[in-house]
Amino acid sequence: MGRAMSDDRIVRDMKDALEFFMALGYERLPLPPLGAPGSRDKRAAMEQLREEIGDCRRCKLSEKRTHIVFGEGDLDARLMFIGEAPGREEDLQARPFVGDAGVLLTRLIEKMGLMREAVYIANIVKCRPPMNRDPEWDEIEECKGFLERQIDIIRPDAIMTLGRIAAGTLMGNEKVKITAIRGKLFEYRGIPCVPTFHPAYLMRNPKDKWLTWNDAQVVLAVLGRSGTTWRVKK
Ligand code: SF4
Repeated sequence: MGRAMSDDRIVRDMKDALEFFMALGYERLPLPPLGAPGSRDKRAAMEQLREEIGDCRRCKLSEKRTHIVFGEGDLDARLMFIGEAPGREEDLQARPFVGDAGVLLTRLIEKMGLMREAVYIANIVKCRPPMNRDPEWDEIEECKGFLERQIDIIRPDAIMTLGRIAAGTLMGNEKVKITAIRGKLFEYRGIPCVPTFHPAYLMRNPKDKWLTWNDAQVVLAVLGRSGTTWRVKK
């Protein structure tokens, strides 16, 4: 008898909770998928990964770098931005996208209605290529496993890749042309990805900024569809 009453109570409470979220406009409950790691597990996993990378010498980019640029942002981010490699400022500060291209990226994030702190930002390779040359494919091969693990830890709802190399790496096709694929959805390990131009390209070609803004609409549409909560810029 007592058990039946407590079951009734649980069902009633669940019904109330469902009605509450439906009244707020949710079509499904804003919960992480079952089995998904919590924030504390994610932090521990990310710290362990950073420790494993250590003072990495796995590729020749280690020779000229000042710092490894691991990546930064919210471990529960619904959106990840992935560029190709740290530049001069990033190498000095050990933070991704803090130079002029970073200012442009931050502006894009804010124009999308988000906070930079609410997304996660990383690069395909974690050390600066000398003279800002493109990272070479042997360097990418050596480093990309670290990024894959970061993506697996964060499990964002969407990824926006910045530039040809980031898109080509996640697509497994080093010959992609960014002008041909930008704004077109592809999937990486089950996560929707939208390629766009690298902010450094947009600094040289500001007339193309509107194309990146169009690509951002695709990202926002993907995030809107997934129906979970979103931290907007205050
Ligand atoms: S780019 Fe990646 S693989 Fe190469 S040294 Fe830096 S952290 Fe290691």
